[in-house]
Amino acid sequence: MNRKHFIKKLGTGAAGLSLAGTLPAAAASLLNTPKYSSLDYTWVSDHNGTDDELRERLERIKKAGLNGILPSGNYEKWIRLAEEFELDVHAWFVTLQRGGDQWLIENHPEWFMVNRLGESSVDKPAYVDYYKWLCPVRPEAQQYIFDKVDEILKISEIKSVHLDYIRYPDVILPIQLQPTYGIVQDKEYPQYDYCYCDACRTKFKELHGEDPMELQNPGDHPVWNQFRYDQVTHLVNQVAIQVHNRGQRLTAAVFPTPTIARTLVRQNWAAWNLDAVFPMIYNHFYHKPVQWIGEAVAECRSELPATTDLFCGLYVPEMTPIEVSQAYEYAMKNGAAGVTIFPDTGMSQEHWDYLSMTMVKG
Ligand SMILES: [Zn+2]
Repeated sequence: MNRKHFIKKLGTGAAGLSLAGTLPAAAASLLNTPKYSSLDYTWVSDHNGTDDELRERLERIKKAGLNGILPSGNYEKWIRLAEEFELDVHAWFVTLQRGGDQWLIENHPEWFMVNRLGESSVDKPAYVDYYKWLCPVRPEAQQYIFDKVDEILKISEIKSVHLDYIRYPDVILPIQLQPTYGIVQDKEYPQYDYCYCDACRTKFKELHGEDPMELQNPGDHPVWNQFRYDQVTHLVNQVAIQVHNRGQRLTAAVFPTPTIARTLVRQNWAAWNLDAVFPMIYNHFYHKPVQWIGEAVAECRSELPATTDLFCGLYVPEMTPIEVSQAYEYAMKNGAAGVTIFPDTGMSQEHWDYLSMTMVKG
């Protein structure tokens, strides 16, 4: 029997155990330990194609055993198509990084973040042209986000408002990405360090008596760092009130562990009032082996309330099919409620087959 044929026969249940002898040894061992039941998703960032081409993608996602998708836009179209496959849709919303928002850039450049050299992220974005970021301290910028969330909340079929890029720009990039930009970030450099706009400087000075622009070692200043964590946390928790008042759920994609998130992007997500968190535990970005995914999930869980579900984000283009299966196991054994694939188009049929063999569904 060829593998594809028996996987079809295997389905996603435990009925396949008797066939385990025909599997590669590592995959067979994974089949022997189901002690949980997961909900699993995929982020969907590629919206190209005809309806029928998108249906083909959704069919692969459904057949693999996933529960839903998180599209980055075109929510109504994805809802219409996903309904045919009984897949949930969560509205992935790129929040503070507004590089694609021409209206905002042209009309309110003063709402954007400023680095420690005094350069606006509109005029001199870090790393890539789209790294133009709204400052979370400015009330007008906050209101702009609330209005965007209101638009999403009008779509009753969505299962959550899913925040992403809800942080500061990377003051330090993940180690794997630094050579891409020809830089070595052995410490915090001012051109990547945000936000030193007038609103932030004034607010910090009022609260703590110092101008952050004049701090000697701003990266080692616990009060200044905490101030920045708190600005994003305050915004998220305001959005949480807004979303919960409408009977909807709030989720977010975040950096992989609480420590990495605070250090690289000043994101203290364990303090956010989320219904579920989706840490992007992209092991290759940090030069880590697949086993690290389990350690990272455990660290995330240690800071989270027991009531907050964690869905482990996996960056699949650099993973082998067996590694995707192993990542699922490591995540689930350490307290994840499921995994979230990025991107769905990075999965070969073999990747889907291995994941579907490994997943334990309720
Ligand atoms: Zn600012």
